[in-house]
Formats: sequence, structure tokens, C-alpha cells
Amino acid sequence: KVRVRFAPSPTGGLHLGGVRTVLFNYLFAKKHHGDFVLRIEDTDQTRYVEGAEEYILDCLKWCGLHPDESPVAGGHYAPYRQSERKAIYREYAERLVMQGHAYYAFDTAEELDKNRKEIPNFQYGQAYRDTLRNSVSLPQHEVDALLDAHTPHVIRIKMPADETVSFTDMIRGHVSFETNLVDDKVLLKADGMPTYHLAVVVDDYLMKISHAFRGEEWLPSAPVHLLLWEYLGWKADMPQWAHLPLILKPDGHGKLSKRDGARLGFPVYAMSWFDAKTGELTPGFRELGFLPEAFLNLLATLGWNDGTGQELFTLDELVEKFSIERVSKAGAKFDFEKAKWFNAEWIKKSEVSSLKSEVIRVLADKGIVVTDDAKLETVINLVKDRCVVLPDFYLQAGYFFEQPKEYDLNAVKPKWTDAKTDFFNTLISLLTAEASIEAHDFETKFKALAEEKALKVGDVMLPFRIMLVGGKFGPHVFDIAALLGKAETISRIEKALA
Ligand code: GLU
Repeated sequence: KVRVRFAPSPTGGLHLGGVRTVLFNYLFAKKHHGDFVLRIEDTDQTRYVEGAEEYILDCLKWCGLHPDESPVAGGHYAPYRQSERKAIYREYAERLVMQGHAYYAFDTAEELDKNRKEIPNFQYGQAYRDTLRNSVSLPQHEVDALLDAHTPHVIRIKMPADETVSFTDMIRGHVSFETNLVDDKVLLKADGMPTYHLAVVVDDYLMKISHAFRGEEWLPSAPVHLLLWEYLGWKADMPQWAHLPLILKPDGHGKLSKRDGARLGFPVYAMSWFDAKTGELTPGFRELGFLPEAFLNLLATLGWNDGTGQELFTLDELVEKFSIERVSKAGAKFDFEKAKWFNAEWIKKSEVSSLKSEVIRVLADKGIVVTDDAKLETVINLVKDRCVVLPDFYLQAGYFFEQPKEYDLNAVKPKWTDAKTDFFNTLISLLTAEASIEAHDFETKFKALAEEKALKVGDVMLPFRIMLVGGKFGPHVFDIAALLGKAETISRIEKALA
């Protein structure tokens, strides 16, 4: 059975790459009628950030990527928070020590630092084991004495010398590593907590994970994990791995970092992230007015395509079409203009009913309370093709519910004439005599009046638009007038003329 996991560490907000990892896991699981597990990897107490786990859960909810098993949903393999599984890991670390694949290391942080400075290649296995106080270099009775005295220690993996470790990545194909260039990583820390390396292997095994999708930045850790799978005797059950391509800066030079957003003026987080320590608020795609459907769609195209040139996909279509063979090895450039294009397309193709609550919220933020539901639906239909992000609905739709607060005077003032004043006064009389406004009929009469007054239609059309909406934007001006209604249209002309 296909079982995948998203295994974030609760160290901050989720950025583009993180949510793309969730998405690819999810798509693969759903495509193969498998399970999608959320496991919180919170064993590094020093990096733990308050609120980050809730943020991750909220984010998955916003995206509509619901885990089948999680700390909240529970599941057969609970608990799903590694800090609550602490007791499980030591046994495995000790088993590795007994087998000679791992060892106790008693060195202090100062000793480590000193050696790092003084000994070339100290970080790699042999140099390390030769120099410090550990159960490889010390005689057994000294090791026993240190353990009996409860000397603080960690357990490290003993990387074999002169070996090549390799595996087949679902995206990258054959990948190999020289063990001489890999550190003796810590597996169990002095506080009894496992490190990521030990916990990820133990939990992927115990939770029967079949496929593991993670960012390319984890590739260098793969040899450690491979050896652990082998030493623990679980090699046959090892998940198939896929290391997802990096998301690159817009110019393609290097990995897109969390700081790039602020520097280049676009969001990198899925939802806004408030860092309590620094008091900094980093805006997210959700708060800037992206639809979750658009956000997922754009993430899917960062490193994947279906080979046909199609760009817009619903989540269901993605589930159906996703295939790991079409994920590229090369990094994917992030382009914010393209991201906005996705959102605009999604707003266009969304049903009015599904946009309604968002638009109500956008308008409410600006103090507009919508009471006429039918009118709101008509308005949304009329302007949705013009909105790139949700807050654009205020600019494009707000004037249907409140009179313009200001006018783009530069666009009309310099060319204003008494003839135009006369035109609009006559237009008021003409409208007063009508029962109501019908867009097409009104357009005909408006144009006829312009001709009668020897004015070019364009010369009065723009001012008319500005009277109604305040600026040079919005849909067909006669549609706007019809929707505003006779009384409101007259009132706006009068107000603007005053
Ligand atoms: N806890 C790791 C992270 O924060 C997970 C990496 C993996 O999926 O193995 O990204």
C-alpha cells in the first residue's frame, strides 16, 4: 500500500518549497489510493518555535490538503509527534552501538570546537574517532566508567571507511556517495532525544512509509539514512525516495530563500508568518489575496508539467495527471508575475458562489457592509475578470456599494467645458424621465445626446465613468449605470458636478 508522509519540523512558517513538498506527497498518495501522513518532527528543542505546528495545520487546511493521519486526526501509528515518541528511539540507537555501527561519544562542545579548528578533515569519521573521547578510541573499562558516572554523551553513527553507498532516486536515478566524506552524525543527543537522522528512519519504518518525497537539500543526508536502514535490518522495507528540485530565485541564481521575498517584493510563505522573537510579520500568499486553488496550481508547475502545455489544473486533475516521471531534476525558477497570472485565471474561472465570502470579507475590511446578495453576485460576475488578487475586488467592486471617495480629476479637469456641464445636466433630465436604466437602451440615448450637443462620445464617456466609479477602470460604463440604478446614477452625476 502506498503511504507517504510530510514531515515538517515546527521551526517557522511554511514557504513555497514546503507546501510544494506537501502537494507532491498528497498527489502521489491520492493517485495511488494511498495514505497521506503528517508527522511533526519536533525533536530539536533548540529550534522549536511556538505556534509553528498550528500554522502548519492551518496551512494544510487552507490548501485543502487533508492528512489521513496526523497529530490531530490520529491514526493507527500514533503518536505522530516525535517528541511524544521519545522512548522509542533509544532502543534502536543502542542496538546500533551493540552491533558496532554506532558509538558513545563523551566529548564536550569545547573539545569539539578545538579539534575542528586544529585537525584537518576532523569532521569526517576516522579523524574524529581517533581524537576524541568515545567508545571506539577508549578501552571498554573507561567507557563503562564514564557511562556509570552518567557522563553526558551522545550516540554517533560510525561511518564505514572507503565505501560507496548508493540508491535509486525516483527523480534523479542512480545517486552515490563516498562514505569517507560523510560525518559521523549524531543519532541520539545528550538529552535523550533522537536527531532527525535516527528519528526519520525509525518512524518511516514503523509507520510503514512506502515513498518519501522531500526537498533536494536533504540529499546529502541520504547516505546516513541508507546505512541506518541497512544496519537496522530493514533494507527491504526502505521507502522509495524522491528528492524534489529546488525552487530558484527569479533570475535562476541560487535557491529561493525566505529572505528573498522581502528583498524582491513578493511573498514566499503560504500564509503570513509572525515571528514572535523578532516581532516581524512576513506576508503570505493567502493574506495577499491568492486563492488556495491558484496557489496549489502554481506550485504544481514548479518542477512538474504534464507534457501537453496545459497550465491550469484543478486539484482533482492534478491527482489524475501527476506522475513522478515528469518531475524534473533541474531547479524551477519562481516567477511572481506568473504566480499572479495563475491567480487571475483562477478568479476568472471560479464560480461566483465560491468567491462570495472572500469578496464580502474584502469589502468589509474597507467598511462596506453588503446587504443585497443578488446585487453582489451580479457585481462579482461583472468584475471578476479584472481582479488579479482578492483585494482588487475593493477597487473593482467597491463603488457599486459606496460613492467614490475621490475622483481622478487630472483625467477630466484640464479639458472640461461648459458644453460638457450642459451635456450632463441634460443627461440628468433625460434619466429622470425614464422609469429605470437598461444598459443597451441607455447607451443609445447617451450617444444620441452627445451627437445632439456636438460632442464626441469619448469626450463625455470618460468623465461619466469617473463620476460613477472615481477613476479610469471598471467594466462597460453603461453596465455599471444599469446596476447602480437610476437614482444612484443621477445622484453620482450631481455630486460630481457640484
Ligand atoms: N523534518 C525534515 C524537514 O523539516 C523532513 C525531511 C524529510 O522529509 O525527510 O524538512
